[in-house]
Amino acid sequence: MPNTVMMSELSWSEYGRRLKEEDAVLFLPVGALEQHGHHLPLGTDWMMGTYIARRAAEKVGGIVAPPVTYAARSQIRTGGGPHQMGGVNLRHETLIYTVHDVLLELARHGAKKIAVIDAHYENRFILDEACYRAAQDLESKGNKEVTIVKILYPERIKPETLTKVYAGLKYPGLDLEHAGILETSMMMYCHPDLVRMDKVVQEGAADFPGYDVFPVRPEWVPASGCLSPPKGSARELGELLVEEFVANVIAIVNKEFRA
Ligand SMILES: [Zn+2]
Repeated sequence: MPNTVMMSELSWSEYGRRLKEEDAVLFLPVGALEQHGHHLPLGTDWMMGTYIARRAAEKVGGIVAPPVTYAARSQIRTGGGPHQMGGVNLRHETLIYTVHDVLLELARHGAKKIAVIDAHYENRFILDEACYRAAQDLESKGNKEVTIVKILYPERIKPETLTKVYAGLKYPGLDLEHAGILETSMMMYCHPDLVRMDKVVQEGAADFPGYDVFPVRPEWVPASGCLSPPKGSARELGELLVEEFVANVIAIVNKEFRA
């Protein structure tokens, strides 16, 4: 029997057996392909979401479906904008339909406990809509057994953790934490080979006005694409953050599905 929690690595029969006999929790990471400065890879969001889902799945008897790697359009004030090189932006309708269809298929396979792991800030309300519609569709077809939990994994961070991670600095908030200390430290811990700190450029944090303009204003965004400076990032800080996020996802899943 394969010692993996990754759905793609399982045969259909083993996958089906774990759903049926073990009532496996099915994790669906949803990330993005989006610039993360010169020093982090384009796949940072889906890689982190998948890493956290895998670690949680290993603890709670779960299976990780392949991540949705293309995601909601990057916005200037939260991800650097849709004009950036390398980003593949989906229209909101496309993401809603994609996630909605995937959820219905997972339910068709027999998944009853589904955890959607959101790893890209712009996805948040779009995923709510996709989950809502999937739950509504299933219920209207008489399937009342499926529960979908959606977790924006970095939504809550302990104040003491933030004090350590942003020692002597001001936490810019999750919206400006794009390719900054938090994401960079986490990638240093989870995917060190993909981080190039020698490519970091000296820039200040973005200073956006409290509104948006369309067509977008690329000149609002720091040239590197980082919305806050990654200077001060460290592997140990990444470990602190990632282990907290993994523990938090496990606690949520245990509370909702394993109580
Ligand atoms: Zn990101």
